[in-house]
Amino acid sequence: MTVLAAPPPLLSPSLAELLERSSALHDHLCPRQILGVRSALLAARHLNLPFPRSDKRVLVFVETDGCFADGVSVASGCWLGRRTMRLMDYGKVAATFVDTRTGQAVRIAPQTDLRQRVKDARPEGQKRYDAYLEAYQTLPDDALLTVQEVELTLDLKELISVHGKRVMCDGCHEEVINEREVVHGVQVLCPSCAGQGYLRPRP
Ligand SMILES: [Zn+2]
Ligand SMILES: [Zn+2]
Repeated sequence: MTVLAAPPPLLSPSLAELLERSSALHDHLCPRQILGVRSALLAARHLNLPFPRSDKRVLVFVETDGCFADGVSVASGCWLGRRTMRLMDYGKVAATFVDTRTGQAVRIAPQTDLRQRVKDARPEGQKRYDAYLEAYQTLPDDALLTVQEVELTLDLKELISVHGKRVMCDGCHEEVINEREVVHGVQVLCPSCAGQGYLRPRP
């Protein structure tokens, strides 16, 4: 695990502009959204790629849903709907940005003592929430975020799959796309019919 110093900035929309877009989408501005935007901006510099992207070159794994993920999407251009964002639901404010062309990947998370530092440094009378809002916008990257160069332990090709792949589940006869089917002997099943379901019909 390496902690890297921040390389010089690329030309990206300003933080203020991205926060405006993100808070418009989100109906409010909140600290985690700012962390999402700042994380993506820093990732762009480490990967040396302009953000927000309109292609599929970068894939982002967010480790929580919610406000943070919206900030990451707005600033990176990576969205669940574009298949350039994946949710790894670990309940952690962190994201890994992968350059799918080179395989380079960086995981970015708030520094572990960040919250405490901001709390301790706030002027008397300032609400904690307001202190986070302000600090997350103004602290330099190296006082805010941690960057690690990482390697994926999952198969990127499998995850992305091939556009247009489609089979029918032998159990429910619904369509399964993106090669998410499970083959059981001669049967081709969707994950639900293969017993990996997250629901069942009401009795
Ligand atoms: Zn929010
Ligand atoms: Zn099925």
